[in-house]
Parts: sequence; C-alpha cells; structure tokens
Amino acid sequence: MEWLFIFILGAAIGSFMNVLIVRTPRDESVSFPASHCMSCNTPLRAWHNVPILSWLFLRGKCGFCGEKISVQYPIVETLAGLIFIFTALKLGVTFQAFGIALVFTLLLSLSVIDFYYKMVPDSLNLSALTFAILSATSLGQVGYNFTNALLFAGGFTLLRFYLSYAIKKEAMGEADIMIAATMGAILGVKLALVAIFLSALLALPALLLTQNKEDENSQQLPFIPFLAMATWIVLMFDTYVTAYLVGLYG
Ligand SMILES: [Zn+2]
Repeated sequence: MEWLFIFILGAAIGSFMNVLIVRTPRDESVSFPASHCMSCNTPLRAWHNVPILSWLFLRGKCGFCGEKISVQYPIVETLAGLIFIFTALKLGVTFQAFGIALVFTLLLSLSVIDFYYKMVPDSLNLSALTFAILSATSLGQVGYNFTNALLFAGGFTLLRFYLSYAIKKEAMGEADIMIAATMGAILGVKLALVAIFLSALLALPALLLTQNKEDENSQQLPFIPFLAMATWIVLMFDTYVTAYLVGLYG
C-alpha cells in the first residue's frame, strides 16, 4: 500500500512536470490558465487530470475534439512514479529520498526540454541544484553537499575555460555547469566523476550517429539526458561503483 502511494505521489509530480515541460520553454505561467487541450483549448475536467489512467482511458485522444494527446505525458508520469519508488527503495522513505526523487524528476523534465527545444531553463535547473543541496539527513550533510556542488561547479568552469581556449569556441554551456554542481551535490566528488565519465560513454554511440549526418541541426546533441541517466545509474549502483574504485585504487 505504501509503495502504491509513493508511486502515485511520483506520478502526480510527473503530471506537474508535464505542465512545466510544455510551458517553461514558452515562458508561460505554470498555474494559469488551468490545464487545457493543446488543440481545441477546452479546459480539462478533473478526471482528465488523473496521471497515466486518464490517457489510457481516453486512448490517447482529447475527450472533446479527438485530437491525439502525446504519449510523452503518460511516459513522463510513469517514469516519475518509478523514480520515486526506486529512490525510496535505495534511500528509505525519508526526507532526503523525497528531495533526491524531486531532483531526478526535474532532471527528467530538463532532459525532455533539452531534447525537443535544445534549451535548458534556468528556473528548473536551479531548482534541481537547490533540492540536491538540501536533500540531506543532517545540517552537516547540507554543508557537505554544498561543498561538493561548489567543487563541481568550479571544476567545470575551469575545464570550460581551458576547452574553449583549446577549440577556439565556447565549449559547454552554463547549464552544464549547473547540472555538474547538482551531480556533485548528490553523488559526492568521486562518484560524480564516474558519472561524468559514464555520461560520455553513453553519449558516444548517439554522437557517432548524429555526426554522420550533414544536417547542421543534428550536430548539436542534447547532453543533459546523458548526464541525468549516468547520475541515476551511479546512484542506484553506488555500492558497486565504490567497490570497483576501491579495487582499482585502494
Ligand atoms: Zn481537444
């Protein structure tokens, strides 16, 4: 029962993230107007807003005009529910787990926005960073998270200076520096470095595929989804990663 509740909580937050995904890139208010069909603008009824189930019940079509509703809505809601379940399994049903689950639903939203719009809204990015620093079991840990966030923001900024100088154009965006800080706060320095490395490995096949095309737009690979995925994988398997590092370096 408890797990069902946690899943529903996550799916409800995922439902709100869908609103953010649609409205933040257009600078629209997230609270006004109320949810409406993107095609016919009819305001949704209460039962149209039930995460996942409404979409299934309406068979992916608007209840008023019959226009297709993107499958992205139930997918984001389901993923958010799963993020909440697995974070609670990993860290227990704690304030810290709730905060970290929020960070990952925000990273999921940022990934979707980065993928579709090639942009990363600062509002969501800074929210993720703030929650990442505050997600702790003690005040001392908040300080520790903050220190790690600073180290990663600083490290990435330096790397960006050197890289940009080396390739004679601006390497990495400011958004990547904020995400790096979030990764540092959640994982700590060692594991966050592993996650950065893993994100590059995950991105490599996609990078090779997009590099083949002549189309200029396809050259810009959204990198946030890979950073988010790598952070998630390293957090879920942190004991194995730590054991591996100890085996390598003692
Ligand atoms: Zn409609």
